[in-house]
Amino acid sequence: MRVGIIGFMHESNTFANTTLNRQHFEEAFFHFGEDLIPIWEDAHHELGGFITGCREHQLEIVPLLAAWATPGGMLEDDAYESILTDILESIQDAGPLDGVLVALHGAMVTPTFPSADGETITRIRACIGDEIPLILSLDMHGNISTPMVEMPDVTIAYKSYPHIDQRERGIDCARILGQILRGEISPHQAHVKMPLLIHIVQQFTGDGAMREIMKAVEEFEAFPFVISTSVLPGYIYADVPDMGVSVIVVMDDAADLVLPHAEGLADLIWSKRAALNAALPSVAEAVALSQNFEGTVCLMDSGDNIGGGGPGDSTIIFKALLEANSPAICVVLYDPACAQYCAEKGLGSTVQLEVGAKTDHEHGSPIAIEGEIITIHDGHFIEPEPRHGGTRDYNQGLSAVIKTVDGHTVVVNSLRVMPTSIEQLNSLNIDPREHHAIIVKGVTAPRAAYDPIADKVICVDSPGVTRAGPESFTYKRRPKPLFPLDN
Ligand SMILES: [Zn+2]
Repeated sequence: MRVGIIGFMHESNTFANTTLNRQHFEEAFFHFGEDLIPIWEDAHHELGGFITGCREHQLEIVPLLAAWATPGGMLEDDAYESILTDILESIQDAGPLDGVLVALHGAMVTPTFPSADGETITRIRACIGDEIPLILSLDMHGNISTPMVEMPDVTIAYKSYPHIDQRERGIDCARILGQILRGEISPHQAHVKMPLLIHIVQQFTGDGAMREIMKAVEEFEAFPFVISTSVLPGYIYADVPDMGVSVIVVMDDAADLVLPHAEGLADLIWSKRAALNAALPSVAEAVALSQNFEGTVCLMDSGDNIGGGGPGDSTIIFKALLEANSPAICVVLYDPACAQYCAEKGLGSTVQLEVGAKTDHEHGSPIAIEGEIITIHDGHFIEPEPRHGGTRDYNQGLSAVIKTVDGHTVVVNSLRVMPTSIEQLNSLNIDPREHHAIIVKGVTAPRAAYDPIADKVICVDSPGVTRAGPESFTYKRRPKPLFPLDN
């Protein structure tokens, strides 16, 4: 049984002031055929799960193409078409396939396609024909459009946020495909789109209402005939007609039960809508709160959430902490020009820099610092543990660490990287525990990395293109009504 493996993943923030091109994928992950195996097979990612699952279930792996880029603005039309063309050509060149496993994000947007993933899966289905089983895996932050559940035989999303179950879900996909190919199951799936948004912080599955919902999902999955149950909180930073929470239930041979099951779960989620949209402290409140704690406090910069498309160079929380005379601050800022300048000055040099806030005017203004360059690094590091995003090999580009005259640690790097691995700091010889306040450019995704070193985590309602609540955005294409915007 020959199984094609495809990955084409991007989360596109339509409020970001940048766009993405093919080079962004080539700088991150872009691999054809067998080249994708060594990159992904050990990663805690669904592509690693596809590979391992196929091996476990005696399915022959036919690696086709895997492309992934750091979340950012919309993907440009010509980049989208060129990568999709590569995917479709790789299918045509692969010879006869018995099944296909596809990993998409679910919130990819191009100027032409508000649901680029819906378009991708439609064209993959058209390319392989109606008879070949097609399994789609998605990020929980997918804004589900109809083709994403109508084109595949089975659609499965992650169950944890931070996303630490990606590999497991990929293994599920391969197992289910094997069962279909052996004629053991006949899946039916139903999708309920809810008139609901969930606050990004309340999407954390380790606590609160989301934890209760995911526990209910686990219980649903124990029912006879249930193959898979997914709850997707969706992605509030893409202004698209398919915004909102989705429930997808997949059952074996129980076509009449599958929709009622999905609706039952949707009713449970709706009953928790108030708790799913609780507010966060402002920057000023969060800074004041941080000063009440001894030890290491992580301030999650929700407005500059790189995993949601933030620029990674906001100085808003940094400035507020400096003004409050907070001791031992640590911040990583995307600032390629400063990183390059430091590399040219050399290790041990004293520099005066204006760091951060250069991508646009929505994330503060550059901050003047003076200090010694204590580390210069090429930016490559490895994360061996399961962490959000499932990446093992990271690259933050040329990076420098400046120890400022007032005792703070400022990292300037050259590639935007989600702060989902504490190795981002360790690899630069930074001990996070020596700091009182660490500014982390994310909300929930970094928690698997930062919870173990933090005495306190504060999620901050900071301004920016990924501000935590939906109320601060002007949507033009979203569906109506949507709780909490229309209530
Ligand atoms: Zn996600």
